[in-house]
Amino acid sequence: METGLESVARRIARPLEALERSGYALADRMPDLGARLLGWLDELESDSDALGRCRDLVLGLDSLPADRRADRLRKFTREWREYLKQKACPKPSEPPLPKDGWSVDDLAGRPLLYEKGVGPARYERLKRLGLFTVDDLFACEPRGYQDRSRLVPLDRLRAGEEVTVVGELRSVELIRGFRGRKPRLSAILTGEGGSLVLTWFNALYLAEKLRPGRRLVAFGKVSPQDGGALINPDFEFLDAGEDPLAFGRIVPTYGLTEGLGQRYLRTLVRRVLDRYLPKLQDHVPEEVWAPRGLPGLAEAFEHLHYPPDLDAPERARRRLAFDGLFLLQLAVLRERMRLDKTSGGRIEAGGELVRRALDKLGFELTGAQKRVLERIRHDLAQSRPMNRLLQGDVGSGKTVVALLAMLLAVEAGWQAALMAPTEVLARQHHRTFRRVLDPLGVPCHLVTGGVKDRARRPALEAIAAGEPGVTIGTTALIQEGVVFPRLGLAVVDEQHRFGVAQRGRLCPPSTNVLVMTATPIPRSLALTVYGDLDSSVIDELPPGRRPVETRWLSGRNAREAFDFIREEAARGRQAFVVCPLVEESLEKGLAAATARYDELREGPLAELRLGLVHGRLDSLEKERTMRSFATGKLDVLVATTVVEVGIDVPNATVMVVEEAQQFGLSQLHQLRGRVARSPHSARCYLVSGRGLTDAAKRRLRAMTETDDGFRLAELDLELRGPGELLGTRQHGLPDVALATLVTDRRMLEEAREAARRLLEDDPELEKHPRLKRRLESVYGSGDLGVVA
Ligand code: ADP
Ligand code: MG
Repeated sequence: METGLESVARRIARPLEALERSGYALADRMPDLGARLLGWLDELESDSDALGRCRDLVLGLDSLPADRRADRLRKFTREWREYLKQKACPKPSEPPLPKDGWSVDDLAGRPLLYEKGVGPARYERLKRLGLFTVDDLFACEPRGYQDRSRLVPLDRLRAGEEVTVVGELRSVELIRGFRGRKPRLSAILTGEGGSLVLTWFNALYLAEKLRPGRRLVAFGKVSPQDGGALINPDFEFLDAGEDPLAFGRIVPTYGLTEGLGQRYLRTLVRRVLDRYLPKLQDHVPEEVWAPRGLPGLAEAFEHLHYPPDLDAPERARRRLAFDGLFLLQLAVLRERMRLDKTSGGRIEAGGELVRRALDKLGFELTGAQKRVLERIRHDLAQSRPMNRLLQGDVGSGKTVVALLAMLLAVEAGWQAALMAPTEVLARQHHRTFRRVLDPLGVPCHLVTGGVKDRARRPALEAIAAGEPGVTIGTTALIQEGVVFPRLGLAVVDEQHRFGVAQRGRLCPPSTNVLVMTATPIPRSLALTVYGDLDSSVIDELPPGRRPVETRWLSGRNAREAFDFIREEAARGRQAFVVCPLVEESLEKGLAAATARYDELREGPLAELRLGLVHGRLDSLEKERTMRSFATGKLDVLVATTVVEVGIDVPNATVMVVEEAQQFGLSQLHQLRGRVARSPHSARCYLVSGRGLTDAAKRRLRAMTETDDGFRLAELDLELRGPGELLGTRQHGLPDVALATLVTDRRMLEEAREAARRLLEDDPELEKHPRLKRRLESVYGSGDLGVVA
């Protein structure tokens, strides 16, 4: 029987694990977690200080801003685990399994903690490898495979062959290095057919373990020299009970972490496969995978780990990759079908407000802007809701187009909202929009986590009353349940930071949505990140823009960059200096950034006025510094991340990126874009450290050679792979599927076609309940593992 504490522990474990595996990024997607936690804690008798501390930590949690909430939850997790340890309840009891079989979704909520051989300590280590639940272990790709199926007798070794041998250690000798020869460990192994020399270089620590008399299996290449020795072979001892998984078959080798050995992982995987595969139900119908020569799901997992031959893992991976893409396409196509059937309000405006706003702005739209605005006006006038992606380089004028589109909605009596990725950007938009909107008498509200309740109330009241106008905000717009009774148009800036799955939460499907991004991405990825949006591109910059001269300096020559900053400052211009957080911990990283700031202030930029912004400053402080920079009270803005320089300061003409090799191409391109909007000629310095990888060199070189965002994006994809490019895990695609996007682009089309055919026949997936459930757990606005 489960005790009260065990039951509470089990319920609390789920959201905490979901948080942990997302690096606490999910903290802002669990709006009422604090209330839930408190409810559960209240079921327990107050019997210790530790429990009291847990309670204190969740009190008021739900009304904290997102970043502080994550911090609190981290502390809570630690306190709570401590408490459980005190109460000797480190392992919650195992939840029951469905009787007649289960799907991957059932296993996705099943922490490995319940498996035999996994105690709390091992569980912590598994988590370090990203292995939280049973399905994580299923999907964990071995780093490689060794064919140890053929045990070769010791008298039949041929030079150059990879072989597996088994035998007993006879003698082990440490041979000191002399005359330039490396020290080595040399052992004689005897077994079937004779004996063999095994040699290890740079592994003297092995001398401890390699005791004569021990049995082992060794795997390596037969050297053409040294009388056919195996050099630096992989090996495993067999004397601690024969490990049948270690030889006589193809053996997986896993990426490891301290305290988790190959043998342990192999055994755990085997045990978990044995336990769960026999009753694993495939969520994809057989008629979808079988004709493509792909294996069923259980077979795929089996072969990923324990393949019968060396081709099997590739087939298994293809199946898993196909799954990922197939689900994605189902999600995307269903959304499109739903949209086709939905009708929103038609928004028809004469464009009077747009004309007056253009007067205020004082410039002509570029041809590309006009074309896109026309397209949007057309979309808005349909009853089918708009769902459009607007791509364009930094500074190409997307925000201006969005503003005008919002005015179309307002003129027709609707509300419009723009969601920005950070508070600072939201505030900046608010400021620039008001310059245009105030004289037109159009209300423009700001709703962010940092706006105090008192200041916010009038805005919220006006919004709730359905007053036509423009609202600018952050995710607070979603989180805090702001209700727009007449939302005609929602604009999402830099949507890749929100993710496909979150879009549904922003507004009802009948709302017109415009997504803007400055990170141009290839079509295959666009489909992945944004789904099936109609897309427009602003491919023309406002007149008078000159390309930014880009120079790549190695650290030693960085002086040139600071000399140039001083020259520009003497002409009244300004500069950004970006230094990334390269340290592992945020604290150390910030310390390094602050130290760098002091160095600049005392050294090369001593005569100038400097400001520093980083992610840990509270938003008001950040805002103050940014504003000083924007109004020319500072010459140089030192910042730690890309987003924080997302502000618009046309007087800034120099961008210095330190440790530039740390940044991806699209980030570098965005950073450079910050000085591209200046009417003065601008320069970007990429300062790199030593020991660059080839990929880093290619990135930096590419930056000096082109300023075409799309070309840079293609190169980025090639160099870094899509996982890195997409950044977050919110796209829902497993790594295998991401890899396929580059290596096998046809598979995406195939998956799309299969999804289309299935939906044609069964649009609501009524005949495929397991598939439907899988789809919802990956892409739906499901419970995110919060529900107990
Ligand atoms: P994006 O959102 O694509 O980064 P913005 O809309 O913020 O670009 O525009 C960048 C800068 O260029 C702003 O200062 C804006 O006022 C200006 N701008 C936009 N469109 C034009 C245009 N057609 N002519 C001149 N300046 C423009
Ligand atoms: Mg912008």
